[in-house]
Amino acid sequence: MEKLAIEGGSPVREKKIFYGHQWIDEEDIQAVEAVLRSDYLTCGPAAEQAQRDLCAYTGAKYAVLLNSDTSALHSACLAAGVGPGDEVITTPITFAASANCAFYCGARPVFADIDPETYEIDPASVEAHITGRTKAVVAVDYTGALADISAIRKICDDHGLVYIEDAAHSIGSSFEGRKVGTLADMTCFSFHPVKTITAGEGGAVLTDNKEFYEKVLLAHAHGITHDEAMMEDAPHEGPWVYEQVSLGYNYRMTDIQAALLSSQLKKLDRFGARRQEICRRYDAAFGSFPELILQKEYPGSESYRHLYILHLDLDRLTCSRRQFFDAMSAEGVQCQIHYVPTYWFPYYRRQGYERGLCPSAEEYYRGIMSLPLYPRMSDQDVEDVIHAVTKLVENYRR
Ligand SMILES: *Cc1c(COP(=O)(O)O)cnc(C)c1O
Repeated sequence: MEKLAIEGGSPVREKKIFYGHQWIDEEDIQAVEAVLRSDYLTCGPAAEQAQRDLCAYTGAKYAVLLNSDTSALHSACLAAGVGPGDEVITTPITFAASANCAFYCGARPVFADIDPETYEIDPASVEAHITGRTKAVVAVDYTGALADISAIRKICDDHGLVYIEDAAHSIGSSFEGRKVGTLADMTCFSFHPVKTITAGEGGAVLTDNKEFYEKVLLAHAHGITHDEAMMEDAPHEGPWVYEQVSLGYNYRMTDIQAALLSSQLKKLDRFGARRQEICRRYDAAFGSFPELILQKEYPGSESYRHLYILHLDLDRLTCSRRQFFDAMSAEGVQCQIHYVPTYWFPYYRRQGYERGLCPSAEEYYRGIMSLPLYPRMSDQDVEDVIHAVTKLVENYRR
């Protein structure tokens, strides 16, 4: 990988280390090429295979491939029956798609605060925000560490809510030995290149519930069914007949992408193990600095981290987060911020959301940046990142 030269305080470097990067190999390229030479570019055998592969990997009964996690979340909300006037509870420390899916359905996202130690959606805050209009909880497994799975499961059961897990960060993670994909009512994945495995763009909904499965299937393909059992006007004249039974979209993934996904899925455990190794190295290096706060995980979870958060205790440092971020960049390490609280965005402001809704999330946001974390990072890259962080913490220590 890129060689960083942080030596004796003379920062001469050829290329920055970015916070994430996909890993595509020759096998992936051949898998895609084979589809391009075949008869089916979409709705073909590669898409069916990838669905079976996702079920086999996670243990889920049903999987539907979609063209993004955004469309997966929309379809899952539709399957959950979210509609105009309803409310969907989610976290503000996420990509905007986790909340936008409620608006797509004519519902309103409601923001629960985060737990200040795990940074995950706080179950007590979820419970406090439930009203007669709440239909679903979109709980994000932020960073790939898991949300408080059993607490959210219990809240949803107690209040008759649908548990939608936004697992864009957490494919491959598990809770008490069960893989993500089997923990919530519906689990949504992203296969954007920056995520743990990629299909170029792509998403999926996994579920054990046949009714949700059938509704997601309809939502992602025009509301059209070819399945006689799902038709309303049967018996039909012939096998050419299909019916549109609801209003759906075209949210399908192509076979070109699906072949890449199946090929990448074979490497997920290897990528995950390397991500864990890098996180352990970061934790070991930063654990002794009182200026740095490490993310805590809920017991019972084993995670393939998608993000590693460098959480600054700004009271112990003389710099701002911005200064630290810029100094990291000058050291050749391009961090990112995950995330600006969703309801701070102008669109949300215009929908009536105000600053101050989730104090823990806002406080957390002020002190964070994401360090480079991807399986193809070399050990030297990791050491260079640690060196840069160490140097800056020592430099800005109060
Ligand atoms: C990336 C991401 C999404 C959106 O995924 P797409 O596949 O790009 O639509 C949604 N939620 C979270 C938490 C994400 O990180």
